[in-house]
Amino acid sequence: MTTAFITHRDCWRHDMGAHHPECPERLGAIQDRLIAAGLDLYLSYHDAPLAEMEQLLRVHPRKYVELVEASSPETGIFHLDPDTAMSPGTWQAALRSAGAGVLATDMVMREEAPNAFCAIRPPGHHAERAKAMGFCFFNNIAVAARHGVEQWGLERVAIVDFDVHHGNGTEEIFAGDEKVLMVGTFQHPFYPYCGTENPAANMCNVPIKAGTRGDVFRDIVSDVWLPRLRQFAPQLIYISAGFDAHYEDDMGSVGLVESDYAWVTEQLKAVARESAEGRIVSMLEGGYSLSSLARSVSAHIKVLADL
Ligand SMILES: [Zn+2]
Repeated sequence: MTTAFITHRDCWRHDMGAHHPECPERLGAIQDRLIAAGLDLYLSYHDAPLAEMEQLLRVHPRKYVELVEASSPETGIFHLDPDTAMSPGTWQAALRSAGAGVLATDMVMREEAPNAFCAIRPPGHHAERAKAMGFCFFNNIAVAARHGVEQWGLERVAIVDFDVHHGNGTEEIFAGDEKVLMVGTFQHPFYPYCGTENPAANMCNVPIKAGTRGDVFRDIVSDVWLPRLRQFAPQLIYISAGFDAHYEDDMGSVGLVESDYAWVTEQLKAVARESAEGRIVSMLEGGYSLSSLARSVSAHIKVLADL
């Protein structure tokens, strides 16, 4: 059994226009790096299915899902938000991205893979129940986590978010949901300019300053995340895996490097072994410097796959 790598060519067909940082080349950079590092041989590759309406409706109102579908242009680009736009390929890509986490959940629950990484776009953690924003349409990690709860009867799932931006959508969806614990770090003050309030007891998001390096990040993980996670004892750990807190990523101003991503992945694997039979579903969020994104994903997957 090896780590499942879930993606789909449709995810390359979502295109928000030239010079948009959330570009199809991100997925190509990741795949190239996995091949160059020799990791691809050790992963099992799977096509992401289309998310079903019933799965999306566990998170998003039907009217919102229909609005996104109706906004899909036949040609050109249609903006739902100043930095979130649909091209003709977006609708299918968004369904594949949400569907990837559903398949990943099914695979780890059926013991077909110990853990899974979803190389998907559009990302999801800024998408609220009824609002597309920050390059996100459907909240992929939320659809996956609800699938774990509703379909598989899980009573405790954790969502860990180390993207440089606050996962405001995930917070909006799960604040007060006792079956879900969210832990995260995010640069503050920074887009989306919220997240410091932790509106419910199941939200544990820690703001970090611009310029923060790995030593401070690791202290927060050790002192805040890990005790909360161990106390909660999740039966499955979901990771909103954004790599835009990397030192080389111009989107943010935090200074993590590959070894920090490898380290945090090891810590989460240890928690997963204790209470979740090792189950981890990791889903790509941000990460816009193609080189550091690819190297960071590679470091993350190398630990997930015990390579
Ligand atoms: Zn981000």
